[in-house]
Amino acid sequence: MNIKLVAAKLHTDLETGLTREERQRRLRAGANILEREKTNVALVFLSQFADTMVLMLLAATLVSAVLGEFADALTIMIIVILNSVLGFIQEFKAERSLEALRELAAPMAQVLCFGEVKLLPAAELVPGDIVFIKAGDRVPADLQIFDTVNLEIDESPFTGESLPVAKDEDSDKPYAYMGCLVTRGRSKGVVVATGMNTEMGKIAHMLGKAEQQPTPLQRRLSRLGNTLVVICTVICLVVAAAGVLRGEPLYKMFMAGVSLAVAAIPEGLPAVVTLCLTFGLQRMLRRNAIARKLPAVETLGCATVICSDKTGTLTENRMTAERVYADGKVFSLTGEELKQNGAWEQELTWLLTLAAVCNGAVLQEEGKGTTVIGDPTDGALLMAAAKAGLARGRLLQRYQLLKEHPFESRRKMMSVVVRDVETNVGYSFVKGAPEVLLSRCSSVRGQRAETERICGQWAKEAYRLLAVAWKECKFAPANQQQAESDLVLSGIIALKDPPRPQVPEAIRRCLQAGIKPIMITGDHRETAMAIAERIGLPVGPGGVVTGQELEAMSDRELEEKVSLFSVCARVYPRHKMRIVQALKRRGHVVAMTGDGVNDAPAVKEADIGIAMGISGTEVTKEAASLVLADDNFATIVAAVEEGRVIYNNIRRFIRFLLTCNTGEVFTMFFAILLGFPLPLRAIQILWVNLVTDGLPALALSLEPGGEGIMEQPPRPREESIMARGMGTDIFTTGLFIGVLTLAVFAYSLAGGQPLMYGQTMALATLISIQLIFSLDCRKNEDGKTSGIRSNLWLAGALLVSYGLLLLVLYVPALRMVFGTVALSLRDWGIVIVFSLLPLLAQSFLRRVRAKRVRR
Ligand code: ATP
Repeated sequence: MNIKLVAAKLHTDLETGLTREERQRRLRAGANILEREKTNVALVFLSQFADTMVLMLLAATLVSAVLGEFADALTIMIIVILNSVLGFIQEFKAERSLEALRELAAPMAQVLCFGEVKLLPAAELVPGDIVFIKAGDRVPADLQIFDTVNLEIDESPFTGESLPVAKDEDSDKPYAYMGCLVTRGRSKGVVVATGMNTEMGKIAHMLGKAEQQPTPLQRRLSRLGNTLVVICTVICLVVAAAGVLRGEPLYKMFMAGVSLAVAAIPEGLPAVVTLCLTFGLQRMLRRNAIARKLPAVETLGCATVICSDKTGTLTENRMTAERVYADGKVFSLTGEELKQNGAWEQELTWLLTLAAVCNGAVLQEEGKGTTVIGDPTDGALLMAAAKAGLARGRLLQRYQLLKEHPFESRRKMMSVVVRDVETNVGYSFVKGAPEVLLSRCSSVRGQRAETERICGQWAKEAYRLLAVAWKECKFAPANQQQAESDLVLSGIIALKDPPRPQVPEAIRRCLQAGIKPIMITGDHRETAMAIAERIGLPVGPGGVVTGQELEAMSDRELEEKVSLFSVCARVYPRHKMRIVQALKRRGHVVAMTGDGVNDAPAVKEADIGIAMGISGTEVTKEAASLVLADDNFATIVAAVEEGRVIYNNIRRFIRFLLTCNTGEVFTMFFAILLGFPLPLRAIQILWVNLVTDGLPALALSLEPGGEGIMEQPPRPREESIMARGMGTDIFTTGLFIGVLTLAVFAYSLAGGQPLMYGQTMALATLISIQLIFSLDCRKNEDGKTSGIRSNLWLAGALLVSYGLLLLVLYVPALRMVFGTVALSLRDWGIVIVFSLLPLLAQSFLRRVRAKRVRR
């Protein structure tokens, strides 16, 4: 159907789009989203009970209820439910924050609203909207396309055909379908269908729910968990059987065995890890890094190389055109001098006209000033032209656009073919990287050698350079090649793009943390070198390597040399891929940034793919595991730091949880072996579990980073979570805790005191030891820790947990239920002294170890 007819049918204007009221009205009819299955809250809750041990415990409770032990049965029920609620909250919170993250990374669309180009969330599109799509975008809704420029779309989601198809408004099907990828060119389109009414919507039910894959760490942990389940089950069976043999009632021993299993098996571990990762995600978010995939958070901490684009990541991407070289003269474009110059030389006016017409950006007047929509390089040129009174809008009335070849990183230039309506002459206007353009110029005003000298000199001053050229031609030159050859050079423009102020410090921290930063840029060698110097990036023994040199190297050679350089200039997107692969083969864990559509493969190949939130294309964002909300290099370094913090925290609470559980198991195990009565009753074991495993473990995952975290080299990726002696430490400390608890139990009974008193002492000691031991888990490997004020969560968790212990000791009703007695001050003295012992032992051992290392 003719595009005008479509517009008329949808009551929209191709030049201005829908009116505000009309958009609002249509938006109410439904958002442009594909409905996916939501997480079912009830299911998440019920899944907490779907654990064999918990089910066995509930069965045992039922039995004891039948046998008349109502109070016991009820309490166990309540504790199990409380535990499940805790697990549920953790899982739900994790799920929620992941969902919120997904929404944060939601795509945007360029829309024509009441005559202005606006950036809106794609979810707010309505039928009749006029949208702009360009290479790298996902088509945001079903569109009927018009005003296409070299448009190519990958329709593989529908056709399975992986080669992109060229499309224009005269095609058979002049549509761009939601979810397809624009691989080249650009176009406008009228939205004809949104949300579930799109072609994609019709097959959306096949997409199902977006599942989060478990991270490698989670997978390893669940394997560890399985092993522990087996070990614990065996021990619990032994404990129960030994008890029965000694004449304890069967159901009581069964209950004790199962309770011990429930308490000791860390079934919640993967969930706590997820929660810890999502807490980390939120902290990263506060520092402007959006992690799209959980595994990335883990890998971040192991990064050994960060490959970064220059423009926009290391620099501000706020460009200004400062100088022009044209017709053998140098002009300054900065404010004051401009005014003094007064008259604009003809050559300069012509050059700025070319630059403004051969341009892909749009200037938008807003309250405070002018903003650029589109490429900042192009924007800077528009600004410079506007200063000289050359508004693109007016220029286009004279130079009618006939054909456009947009900028592509691999060509490093852009061109347009226009018709001068006043003289009826056809022109080709071209701009691009000076070396590339100079080689296509047959005539250079001023001298070629002088032009090259100026380019070299300006590049050394860190300017980004652009050559502008033109030629007369037929209205429709046969192809792009023709439009971009045999040109006349008009001049050179120097653009300034200062380094971001936070970057030098970030580079310093990288180097200190044993991470190698590499700058990869499409810009000139000298420009790259000058910027590297300004941000304190050591160029490396290999010097600056250029795309051309990379091209000449074989994969083998590249692999050998890749460690030698840290600045790559005049690089094409395909080189990024080779650099990543070479680095990976050398055993590096590589983080790689990208923005353009051609960067997506390299970003995907990297261990940590990073996309730009502001200037990046949708495809790169989708391929990336990390998106920088502020496009800033310093944010990558912050994310790496958070990655390390998160990993350390996971180790902290694993150490805490497993040590405590081992302690509980040993307490029971030894008691049975030595022929003691049971030191803890079933409900008491469950209470210990509730009091210690929940809040303190969670609080440990909120531990701040500590000073030294970026002073250590990256950890090896394959390192086990139990590495650096943690497994042995867990075993020995657990053993120690078991022995101490049992010692208190035995001592309390020695004076002929009732069993209840001994059990209460054991309960208080076991809980107290664990709570105090959580303070040791805060410490870094070197034994250093910041004051408790830096983790008030843990302080709070300890208070609440001690409160819970006091509750069962001093509330008479609970005392009845839990079979405890009130402890005296003297008793507490014993409990506290014993609780401090593991902490002191750890400090002592650390000192001994440090001494040995020093020797
Ligand atoms: P990075 O990879 O660090 O982002 P970059 O943005 O400088 O580097 P490209 O975008 O490939 O890399 O640009 C390479 C060269 O192409 C620039 O040095 C400039 O000369 C030229 N160039 C950049 N943008 C345009 C544009 N919009 N039109 C014409 N030429 C351009």
